[in-house]
Amino acid sequence: MLLALVLSLGLSLPQRPIRAAAWTSRPAPSPVMGPTSGDPIRKMDFKPVPRPPARGGSPMPQLLAQNKRWAAEVAKTPGLFDRLRQHQPKYLWIGCSDARVPSNQLLGLGPGEVFVQRNIANLVVNVDTNLMSVIQYAVDVLKVSDIIVCGHYECGGVRAAMTNTNHGSPLENWLRNIRDVVRLHAHELKAIADPEARYRRLVELNAMEQTLNVYKTHCVQRARAASASDTAQQHVVPRVHAVVYDPLGLELKELDVDLEIEDYEEVYKLYPTAEAAMHHKTGSEGARPEYFV
Ligand SMILES: [Zn+2]
Repeated sequence: MLLALVLSLGLSLPQRPIRAAAWTSRPAPSPVMGPTSGDPIRKMDFKPVPRPPARGGSPMPQLLAQNKRWAAEVAKTPGLFDRLRQHQPKYLWIGCSDARVPSNQLLGLGPGEVFVQRNIANLVVNVDTNLMSVIQYAVDVLKVSDIIVCGHYECGGVRAAMTNTNHGSPLENWLRNIRDVVRLHAHELKAIADPEARYRRLVELNAMEQTLNVYKTHCVQRARAASASDTAQQHVVPRVHAVVYDPLGLELKELDVDLEIEDYEEVYKLYPTAEAAMHHKTGSEGARPEYFV
């Protein structure tokens, strides 16, 4: 199952198996006896691993050549380098690591237009300091207007979480977050008889739940509450969207996220008023956080 998951996620396995001798509990060869002792097992341990010629088989020459062709083509874009100097993307994308779900290409956007975070099954986990830092930076410094959480069908991570299999640590710990989504929506999912339809619905529900997890984040709440009192803003920012993508259909579909989180404001809401959010954000209204400036 782990192999199937790895393959479905597009992750690559080592091309050559790791030498078992390096990981077994077999005692290290005695320096006295050494590899010339005549012991056939130890002779095998010390058999030199054949090395390929320098850079032989490396994909880098091909990839660098492709990069040159790509760079020459993209460099023709009017105003590109002005945009890249500024780095002011409007969007934060939270998607799956799956190789078939490239953020910029799916949105028809180029370099400099999307701030990106990807992980297995596009999860928004409160104790993931990597993602939480990305959200904080995107909201407080880049001031993105929209956060997009993208799930996708054919997601090996979601499919793995539907099996009673221990995928080992830390992968199984990660997938447990999806199992929790199954529990939250068990009634709806159990009512879907077709396993494939149930799986596709779980992909959608997972994206929606992760969107709610973005809403729950303190810096997103703070920014939204503060912008609510900003008359210069046409709408509350950042907006948060859930979409799902079908790699076999190449189209994004927006999901209607209404999981009644308002009913739980007494649990999640951190800022009772916009003024409170403004004060907490900066210590003085209107100022920018000092870090990263
Ligand atoms: Zn995936």
